[in-house]
Amino acid sequence: MDNNNTDRDTLPKDNLISEYSELFQAIDVATIALDSANVGIWIIEVESRKFSPSKRTKELFGYYPENEMSFEEALLQITEKHRANVNKAIEISFKKHSYLFIEFPVIGFHDNENRWLSLTGGFNSSNVGNNYFSGIVIDITEQKQNNLRRSKFIGMVSHELKTPLTALNAYIQMLNTWATKQKDSFAIGTMSKVDRQVKKMINMINNLLNLSGAEAGKIHLNKQAFKLNELIKEVIDETLFMTSSHKIHMVPCEMINVVADRDKIDQVLVNLLSNAAKYSEKGTSIQIACALKDNCVELSVIDQGLGIAQQDIDKLFLPHYRVESKETERIPGFGIGLYLCAEIVKKHKGNICVESELGKGSTFKFTLPVNLI
Ligand code: ADP
Repeated sequence: MDNNNTDRDTLPKDNLISEYSELFQAIDVATIALDSANVGIWIIEVESRKFSPSKRTKELFGYYPENEMSFEEALLQITEKHRANVNKAIEISFKKHSYLFIEFPVIGFHDNENRWLSLTGGFNSSNVGNNYFSGIVIDITEQKQNNLRRSKFIGMVSHELKTPLTALNAYIQMLNTWATKQKDSFAIGTMSKVDRQVKKMINMINNLLNLSGAEAGKIHLNKQAFKLNELIKEVIDETLFMTSSHKIHMVPCEMINVVADRDKIDQVLVNLLSNAAKYSEKGTSIQIACALKDNCVELSVIDQGLGIAQQDIDKLFLPHYRVESKETERIPGFGIGLYLCAEIVKKHKGNICVESELGKGSTFKFTLPVNLI
């Protein structure tokens, strides 16, 4: 690919209807800046789907600058696995006039090169011509490859750390049984503390393992049938064992059988429950409720904690997002727990959301289809 263009990456004006001439004069100036940053630009008329890619945009899809490239031809370069999703996101933005931000892999038309592209765009209403979408496209292949390498590294290290920890956990259970038989209260107390710390580490490592899977787009589900009530009870007991600082109640609910990945749903509940405890005053109450709604079961974790401001709610489920405030700055965390909860719930074809009021508390809710196969 030519990274040393001396020609300006101008739009093919001759192809475009004259009403846009003012727009293109403005774009000409911006083009110099975009050109030096290797950024492609594109315009598409909403009604006619007349597509006008810049030279750099064509290059990113593997076309020669002098080639024509229609919207449909650009779509065809997107790998089959991602094409339908990209098309859907574009159509939704066109329909709702909403901001467009998508990342997807392409295989270049002439050069057959694999690239990851990031496409951003927005709606523009024109009082001289038709409404159109315009935006930029950039090559993010290197960034994607670095992320993948980092994810693989995290996955490998976490896996290596988990093996001795699992063995340690088993020895702790054996020592616990022995100490109980000996009625050695010092050993029982100490083993219980060791057990808590090891469980915390196992939980952190499970999060890192799931993070590495989620970032590589590979969360594997090992589905099995189980009773949700029993899992909730186990998670509550475990959380109470780890932290006795809060009152945790389960609102009684009917026996619900689901077919899901028990360990991963356990992870979601542990994350939501430990957040509820982490972000609320000691001594306050936390509730877990579940209810059947249509073909779903809805689980809620309700706390009386710090609450979350409206502007943070939309970003909470993004990787590494943490709310920055005086109250949260001293509470440690990596900002991956909620991202993982969302990825695991999505993988089960469920939904996750939060209702919250600053200073009053939060309710995190997620659904799981009951007839999961
Ligand atoms: P972490 O807790 O490690 O920072 P999470 O992904 O679990 O990461 O949470 C992201 C952010 O969401 C947290 O930093 C916190 O600010 C906010 N948050 C999560 N759960 C709650 C809660 N129950 N109450 C208030 N804020 C919360």
